[in-house]
Amino acid sequence: MGIIEKYNKGVLYYQFESFNKVAYINHLFTSRIGWNNENIPDKISSIFNVPKSNIVNVRQVHGAEMTVIDLKVEDFKDLSKKESDGLITNIPNLILTTSHADCVPIYFLDKRKKVVGLAHGGWRGTYKNITGKMIDTMKNIYNSEPEDILVGIGPSIGPCCYEVSKDLGEQFNKRYSRFKNIVQEKNNKVFLDLWRINYLQAIDKGIKSGNITLSKTCTSCKIDKFYSYRKEKDIKNRMVAAISLDKRMII
Ligand SMILES: [Zn+2]
Repeated sequence: MGIIEKYNKGVLYYQFESFNKVAYINHLFTSRIGWNNENIPDKISSIFNVPKSNIVNVRQVHGAEMTVIDLKVEDFKDLSKKESDGLITNIPNLILTTSHADCVPIYFLDKRKKVVGLAHGGWRGTYKNITGKMIDTMKNIYNSEPEDILVGIGPSIGPCCYEVSKDLGEQFNKRYSRFKNIVQEKNNKVFLDLWRINYLQAIDKGIKSGNITLSKTCTSCKIDKFYSYRKEKDIKNRMVAAISLDKRMII
């Protein structure tokens, strides 16, 4: 199973087939076709059939801090000022969102406990094991079992295009020495495979490989469909990752 492309209500977006099989999940990853920074909340609200006021976001800082949204959170609007790169909830009808332009969107779903998570993994977050931290948080807060968790690694800059310094490649190889082939050398250049590192971080926490979808879709290769910060210097537009538990699940 992989990723599918949908054209609906004048916009193009992406979804994981594995997540689509779960009836009570709404999710998507936006593209550059039909979307812009202004219309994203309205369009997502319309596609998910959830009020725009229920969209949650945080201040992304390339860290690995997780924000759990439970009934103790009095006003989730305040979270937009909170520095964090991961969102988790089991509350239906809230739309978790993160913004991306090359950084990896990572989607999580515990099918048994009905918990969703979303992470923003650039190289810094990936270096800090953001995927592992998300899975640990799901285990600690919701007693999630690894075999119930689905992971989706969405469109982002691939190992084909993500050139990094030799020094950074060495830092990753040193920190993740148990992971093989995460840094590749081609023509004396070093390329980092953020997809594979996040995949192996999930495997490391006990997620079954069959429950992980790698979209293998590179934003820098496909600028007809996506915005790429690397390829299009200083671009202000972003793609948004979104996931929510449908309100129908509680009926
Ligand atoms: Zn590429």
